[in-house]
Amino acid sequence: MLSNLFGNIRRSIFPVNIPRYVEPVLLKYNSYYRALSPENKKRFRRRVMIASATLDFTPNNFPQVSQEMIVLITSALIQITFGLKNFQIDRFRKIIIVPSNYNFLHFQNLLGHVDFEERCIVLSWPSVKEGYLIPDDAMNVTLHEIAHALQEENRFRLAYNAFFDKQSMEEWEIEGIKKMVQIKQGQHSFMKDYGGINMLEMFSVCIETFFEQGEEFERRLPRLYYAVAKLLNQDPLKGENPVL
Ligand SMILES: [Zn+2]
Repeated sequence: MLSNLFGNIRRSIFPVNIPRYVEPVLLKYNSYYRALSPENKKRFRRRVMIASATLDFTPNNFPQVSQEMIVLITSALIQITFGLKNFQIDRFRKIIIVPSNYNFLHFQNLLGHVDFEERCIVLSWPSVKEGYLIPDDAMNVTLHEIAHALQEENRFRLAYNAFFDKQSMEEWEIEGIKKMVQIKQGQHSFMKDYGGINMLEMFSVCIETFFEQGEEFERRLPRLYYAVAKLLNQDPLKGENPVL
């Protein structure tokens, strides 16, 4: 009763205006969103508006960031954190969008990256779209880079406002390390080799695979799959109500 009461008060204090352009973008690109119930869709759109209002989107080498870019990129953040209490990024608010793949330092043809020192996320817009338009290849640069940002920012947060539960993170790490070692030893047949580089890449690859190849992930690596599900407090294989 109390929580209902406070819930109602919170809603009335913070009404969120959801513009009409939001839903068509989500329906067009985001298969996770399309699978949600009407109630969860509403909650998702509301979170997109709240989170995107605090992000700083900057165009690089083109005139203006579009609403479509803002909604689609923010949707990756909301998708990963949909089962969690906290869903707003503080440390990596700056998101730089570039019009094509790019070179950075000694890296060539990048789709995106997170700069931990400059505290920004860089994303190539064509790759963002492709990541969503092909929803089942476990290649989604926006999920990948935002997963990096969340994992890094989580290290600086105290328990009360952390994204991830400490124990669930430790349980995921135990399973993640096992898989990383298998990849390094060439003894595996599922999940991108990229996850074998280190535990940061393992985390982002787990997130991409969890959302884009969930059924196969669950069938072939159930312990790792359910460690991710517990960490994110959601299981999209449950259909329209993924939040546990
Ligand atoms: Zn990465």
